[in-house]
Amino acid sequence: MDKHDTRWTRRTVLKVAGALASTPAFGWIASTDTQGFTAPPTPISLGKSPPEPSDWQALKESLSGNLLEVQSPLEIYKADPSSTAAKTVMKNMKNPFFLEEQPGATHTTGWVGAFDSAVSPRAVAAENAADIAAAVTFARKYGLKLVVKGTGHDYLGRSSAPNSLLVWTHKMRDITVHDAFVPAGSRDAGIPAVTVAAGSRWLEAYDAVTNHAGRYVQGGGCTSVGACGGFILGSGFGALSKRFGTGAGSMLEAEVVTANGDVLIANEYQNPDLFWALRGGGGGTFGIVTKLTLMTHELPQTLGGFMGKIYAKSDAAYQKLIEEFIRFYPDHINNENWGETVKFTPDSTLELGLIFIDLPEQEARKIWQPFMEWLDAYSADYERDIEIVSVPFKDYWNMDFWLDNYPALIQQDPRTSAPKGQFWWKTNDSAVSEYMYGYQSRWIPLTNFHNPKALAKSFFDASRHWSFKLYVNKALAGAAPEAVERDRQTCINPAVFDAAAWVLMQASDTDIFPGVPGYEPDPVKAEALADRVAAGMAVIREATPGAGNYANEADYHEPDWQEAFWGMNYPRLLTIKKQYDPTDFFSTHHSVGSES
Ligand SMILES: Cc1cc2nc3c(=O)[nH]c(=O)nc-3n(C[C@H](O)[C@H](O)[C@H](O)COP(=O)(O)OP(=O)(O)OC[C@H]3O[C@@H](n4cnc5c(N)ncnc54)[C@H](O)[C@@H]3O)c2cc1C
Repeated sequence: MDKHDTRWTRRTVLKVAGALASTPAFGWIASTDTQGFTAPPTPISLGKSPPEPSDWQALKESLSGNLLEVQSPLEIYKADPSSTAAKTVMKNMKNPFFLEEQPGATHTTGWVGAFDSAVSPRAVAAENAADIAAAVTFARKYGLKLVVKGTGHDYLGRSSAPNSLLVWTHKMRDITVHDAFVPAGSRDAGIPAVTVAAGSRWLEAYDAVTNHAGRYVQGGGCTSVGACGGFILGSGFGALSKRFGTGAGSMLEAEVVTANGDVLIANEYQNPDLFWALRGGGGGTFGIVTKLTLMTHELPQTLGGFMGKIYAKSDAAYQKLIEEFIRFYPDHINNENWGETVKFTPDSTLELGLIFIDLPEQEARKIWQPFMEWLDAYSADYERDIEIVSVPFKDYWNMDFWLDNYPALIQQDPRTSAPKGQFWWKTNDSAVSEYMYGYQSRWIPLTNFHNPKALAKSFFDASRHWSFKLYVNKALAGAAPEAVERDRQTCINPAVFDAAAWVLMQASDTDIFPGVPGYEPDPVKAEALADRVAAGMAVIREATPGAGNYANEADYHEPDWQEAFWGMNYPRLLTIKKQYDPTDFFSTHHSVGSES
């Protein structure tokens, strides 16, 4: 059965959230705002006697943090959709920072034929490594499924699970900037770095590193993604990865709670195998990282935007345009100065959403001149509208700068309780409470760009099904040599070093909450859009055999995922997994060892 059939077999069992058996409330457990609701189910013990109330009590008393009973914030809406509280919740479900403050919420609300976001009914709101170790030891003792959530950004729904005990790291948000960090066991002089605790978000890391210390740390573009959890553990590509490599490549040290409750330091000198596996081997797999240290880099001077649209007036003209872009790309854009996206659409438009660093605007124009001259030569076939802007790089993460100069680009957290400077990019609105119909991605090898006619045909054919984005920055052929060198020390699929770009085709909606009346997915629309993505990406997959992908931003149904995410590194990862977690205590969808 191929992937497509599998998906639709699963779709036919697409479930709406059912009421799970509830158990008596434990009055002593600090509760989230659950007044008026029945208690959620407890975590289920697998093959062992379940914990007694006195055992839960003992766990709670051992924590510096808290033990919470958890419900979805949507329960408030379900109880009385017309209430003011319900309207406030629905508004807040579009705020990524609100979602992260809820132990019972995740950013992705579900994925057709794959999962509906579920609530872990109990959570240890951890405040330190000892709390996490206590949760791990408790879950092992009583056979409870354990899941870990920092921000809940995981596309594949892996940071929560029904009937599980959640380790929620949201409250662990210390950030320390170092002038000279020396990994434990090293005799070298230190280097500039930043240590981020498990619940920190990238906006907070950038505030400390860029706004206050004038340095750069390689993280993600989305301000609310976690700086310590899944992003780095799943390699983590950001807008400047062609210059600085993946987030994992910058890792210097991690503190980890392993499956037997030990707290270990992993770096080049201590537990080096674990250190290697943590640099891209996936979140929720080798242990729970309590904090990690990332090298920081010299801050670029300028950040430019090369934005706009080129519209082709016929199919033939569009295919020619794509071919010309593919010819142009390797020598002009595929380098450490460029990042972000070019979008190919069914209405025959090339949408440029590129950034460039440390290039004067005139230089950026000059680089594009041959392409623009080509367009001029065929002016009857195309219309274009392109804008170039440049801003000081130091203001990239400064909310006030954007509010003063380009307010339409950002959304300030509107809540009066929000910390100063908390914002997200308006372009990320569509990822907040997002429901997936189809999401597939793929590296595009540089060799494909050397056959522009064939790749243009594939891109054109794919774009007839659905739009897709080509990311300059999420592949490493053409990246700065020192970044490539660092990433070669990680466990990422080495296919990344031959890939000049990464393609993402995605169909999704917001305002869908499975199990909430009035917000259920429409199965007909879901099927139609999932089919389009599957058909479009089938064309691209066929053109790029063995191209691979990385774990953070991949299809839930990625075929042959071990090979796709880790290539030749998978057997070694599996050995390390067995060494540190022989019973597969940490296991989640498409994680190392989960096939067993
Ligand atoms: C809007 C949006 C934009 C994104 N942009 C990018 C991007 O540009 N580049 C990119 O590479 N990825 C991107 N991602 C994907 C993102 O990096 C992954 O979803 C990542 O796993 C999120 O990690 P998290 O800790 O923030 O989220 P969570 O959902 O909390 O965790 C994700 C996974 O990591 C595990 N985990 C969390 N904390 C820990 C911990 N302390 N120790 C061990 N395991 C842990 C969880 O169990 C889960 O399996 C994006 C996602 C979203 C929703």
